[in-house]
Amino acid sequence: MSWEEISSNELECPCGEGTYTAKSFVDDWNRSERRWEMNCPKCKQVYLLHTYYEYESGKSCGSHVWVRKEHYEAVQKIKTQLVGEKEHVVNLAERRYMQAWLSYFEDAKSKKEIWRRLTEAGRLYPGLATFYSHTKHMNPETYLRREFSYKNLPKILQKLNIIDEPIQLRLRATMGLEEGLDEAENRLIREGHR
Ligand SMILES: [Zn+2]
Repeated sequence: MSWEEISSNELECPCGEGTYTAKSFVDDWNRSERRWEMNCPKCKQVYLLHTYYEYESGKSCGSHVWVRKEHYEAVQKIKTQLVGEKEHVVNLAERRYMQAWLSYFEDAKSKKEIWRRLTEAGRLYPGLATFYSHTKHMNPETYLRREFSYKNLPKILQKLNIIDEPIQLRLRATMGLEEGLDEAENRLIREGHR
């Protein structure tokens, strides 16, 4: 269960005056890991190690890149903003429409009928067996309250035939923010030093 070092390289740091050390490890399960350490005092002040994951033939593989602290912090700021915006729009929608959402299922006579209404008779996730296992130890109302999430919000509004301009506007803004975050993260990785 221990990691074995298989390589260690000294590579040029971003400012070019020093180095960082890149080590590779494997363990008994043939998992691999890369560890980087900055040796340059100047770059230590300016750069952070950013770890991201790539998928190679179904296996997740952690990679690193050196990024400027202020670029990293700018991305974190968008992330925080996005979390806040999502919470805000869900809270707003909950206040306005949670009751309507629960009422939509109120006269359903069975769990299967709730599932049928929830998934447009099986056209949407989850399948019936999954739904039964999700609701095995949970009463349907708790389950439906949980379903009222950011991810499901557009679907829920559509199902309830709700046109709410302020909420739609906020949803569009949040989606824009999500795209912006994706772009900023990709740029961070693309423009980082390796
Ligand atoms: Zn340096």
